[in-house]
Amino acid sequence: MTRIWINVQPEGLYIRPAAVYVDPVKPVQRAIITHAHADHARPGHVTVYATPETLAIMACRFGNTFCEQPIAVNLGDTIDLPGNVDMRLSPAGHILGSAQVTLTYNNEVATISGDYKRAFDPTCRPFEVQKSDIFITEATFALPVFTHPSIEDELKRLLQSLKDFPGRCHLLGAYALGKCQRLMSVLRRMGYRETIYLHGAQVKLVELYEQFGIDLGHWRKVSDVEDKASLAGKLVIAPPSALADRWSRRLPYVMTCLASGWMQIRARAKQRRVELPLTISDHADWPQLVETIREVDPSQLWVTHGREDALVHHAKQKGIDAMALNLLGYDEDAD
Ligand SMILES: [Zn+2]
Ligand SMILES: [Zn+2]
Repeated sequence: MTRIWINVQPEGLYIRPAAVYVDPVKPVQRAIITHAHADHARPGHVTVYATPETLAIMACRFGNTFCEQPIAVNLGDTIDLPGNVDMRLSPAGHILGSAQVTLTYNNEVATISGDYKRAFDPTCRPFEVQKSDIFITEATFALPVFTHPSIEDELKRLLQSLKDFPGRCHLLGAYALGKCQRLMSVLRRMGYRETIYLHGAQVKLVELYEQFGIDLGHWRKVSDVEDKASLAGKLVIAPPSALADRWSRRLPYVMTCLASGWMQIRARAKQRRVELPLTISDHADWPQLVETIREVDPSQLWVTHGREDALVHHAKQKGIDAMALNLLGYDEDAD
């Protein structure tokens, strides 16, 4: 029975023969971290296995003492864990350094997806399907109503608005880790050459992405711009929390924009007073979840966090033994 070697503990998913947790929500002796979003990557573990990029982002956010023993594992590499468990990390396509964790024990293969997407993102390696007996998936957007448009189509609307409203500062809310850099990178590919202005909270991680060789074009900190009126017609990227706070009042005639998978729900955009909602997500939408499960072809599907019920139902209809794990401690907001 497979649950004997992988089970759910209060700290998170536990790989029993290797005595290691995946993305634990409390400090543990040994942790595998799928990616550096705050709800998955917490400081205070003793040994941490992760990609070099994830370790670098954790060090950038928490300081070099975020764990006692970091062990870097490259995407595509396999290492031996204690207890005769093999671990391979492979790209999840979610943010820089994000990994799926494939574990092999007694000829049984289990893949823990972490957060993932199949949509275009030039800032990280694309998701790679790992054929598995057990597939443990996220379910943030696991309802058939969630179908995300392409990022290029959404950003075309932003570029058009910048043309149509040259007097307005376009203030775009985007998470500092992953979303901000993906937007910058795709805008550059689409030919946007203007300086992009950044809220101070975005700067450290933008610089870190650049250190990993990702070209984000010319940018400046908003705080370095003396004449704020000169930001009319410009693009400013800030954390979503800054859209409504005092910081944004210094900007001229603001057009509030927000890039999030949740912007597909118009009520959420309205509630946050977003004038230009952009449905751009770093998670798989419903068609991507369904397609991924078909390709991974598991005999068992375990659903970690999000909207579990619809996905479990879908998998059962396809003859897959499926269940919800109801893991706690992971936000749906960091999308
Ligand atoms: Zn994430
Ligand atoms: Zn997550």
